[in-house]
Amino acid sequence: MPTYQPSLQVHYSHTHLIVTHLYRIRHQFRLSNCHPRQSIEIRTEDAHTLLAIKDMYTNPYTPSQVAQAKSRNIGKSFANFLKPLASAVWHKDINRNHPASQDTLPSTGQTQGYFKIMRDSPKTNLCLPSSFITHHSALNAMSLFRLRTQSHGAIPTHTYHFEDNMRNLYGDRLCTRCTTNTLGCEPHTILECTYSKHLASPLINKLRSLLSKAGQPSWDSLPMSQKNSIILGNPYSSLPTKLHKVWTETSLNEILPYISSLETLLYT
Ligand SMILES: [Zn+2]
Repeated sequence: MPTYQPSLQVHYSHTHLIVTHLYRIRHQFRLSNCHPRQSIEIRTEDAHTLLAIKDMYTNPYTPSQVAQAKSRNIGKSFANFLKPLASAVWHKDINRNHPASQDTLPSTGQTQGYFKIMRDSPKTNLCLPSSFITHHSALNAMSLFRLRTQSHGAIPTHTYHFEDNMRNLYGDRLCTRCTTNTLGCEPHTILECTYSKHLASPLINKLRSLLSKAGQPSWDSLPMSQKNSIILGNPYSSLPTKLHKVWTETSLNEILPYISSLETLLYT
């Protein structure tokens, strides 16, 4: 291949391609302040501001990690560059709408119930799947997934909504398996309910030992929401990142059989 060909291709793509040409016109139009509020250009600028990379919009540059990627991987590399930035915005949004200070109170809705479980993963990149999904196991993680995502048919607060069948308000979805008149959420089912809490004892003993070996706070000192989060597959919040893989592998070997036995009991 002649050596001048690549440079000619680059020059052509920047000066003649229709997409590039349209973008340049759009950008000039934007600078004239005539753009409608919802235009792509305005939204692109807003997205840069939201992700705290406004400088990349005003003075376009290529992040170093993207510049090092092979040409065929540039798109993927740029997406990977954006993921932690988007995750940080997401975390901020979650913490604003569902502050940690409310975790000790009964949940007021399924969204709050879900984020209580996720609270124990403050450093997690939310654009990546949770470790309990990516961990390869012969055991099926679907029931754990349903419990974590507030969509398990055997948990009263998870009940589905059908068009012609209005469900109870969240606070009225009480446990029907015990006489405590308590919200029938997954923390109650796992840790409190006299009908099912005994099933978690062997798992809790294992988690108690894991916390101790990792030099973490004792199981008994943790609030209920954090215990529930760990039982549902999250590493303890202050566990060093380098120990997350071992924690996941070890704990899931105990968690998944427990979830299976819990499900069997709840459907009996
Ligand atoms: Zn109960």
